[in-house]
Amino acid sequence: TEEIIHQSDKLSAVGQLAAGIAHEIRNPLTALKGFLQLMEMSGVRKQEYFDIMNSEFNRIEQILTELLVLSKPPSMHYSDSVVQDIINDIVTLLNTQAIIKNIYITTDMPEHKVYIRCIKNQIKQVFVNFIKNSIEAMESGTIQIKVVAEENTDDVTVFFEDNGTGIPKELLKKVGEPFFTTKEKGTGLGLMVSSQIIRDHRGELRITSEENVGTICAVTLPTSS
Ligand code: ADP
Ligand code: MG
Repeated sequence: TEEIIHQSDKLSAVGQLAAGIAHEIRNPLTALKGFLQLMEMSGVRKQEYFDIMNSEFNRIEQILTELLVLSKPPSMHYSDSVVQDIINDIVTLLNTQAIIKNIYITTDMPEHKVYIRCIKNQIKQVFVNFIKNSIEAMESGTIQIKVVAEENTDDVTVFFEDNGTGIPKELLKKVGEPFFTTKEKGTGLGLMVSSQIIRDHRGELRITSEENVGTICAVTLPTSS
């Protein structure tokens, strides 16, 4: 046993992630199998069973969708994209979801176009993850997106600031660990996937937060010219 414990201590990051994924997917699968057996043996087909099964299937689907963003098919090349365009796209995408909750998204961006060399869909996903977390952390309020870049500079910082619940100090270091979530229906993969993508792009992510005040996610990425 000692050796086994010893070895599992040395599980690589990939191994730990694989173990986490296997675990998180086995749980809903076990539930699905259980309900199938129950229905087969009892002959009872209750709407409630289908609802639970449906939500377990959705959970598996959500986990896999979030992780798939990390895979890069060979066709997905890096290209030069304008930060302002990416932000305008995702604000349009998420605005309706926000407005339903009385949340307003504002942007403050430089006049001159800021280019980054990136896998556009991945960077979009990162920004979407931040904004979704903000929406989920607020009853109502404002999400402020600010892009800061001097002209002819070699990096750009995008700030996502909300006035939501904030993250308690003792939980802040756990955020971004695979499967760490405080939400009933969360996957705990959004920030892990986001920070991996940012690292792949040679960028940096800083999260500052104060409970009952709000959260700021700041991404710094190299610009291209
Ligand atoms: P998920 O959203 O599925 O829970 P994430 O990795 O996106 O997973 O976030 C992990 C956790 O970090 C969340 O469950 C939440 O507790 C915390 N968190 C992230 N962003 C915010 C935010 N803007 N405001 C408050 N808490 C946040
Ligand atoms: Mg999230």
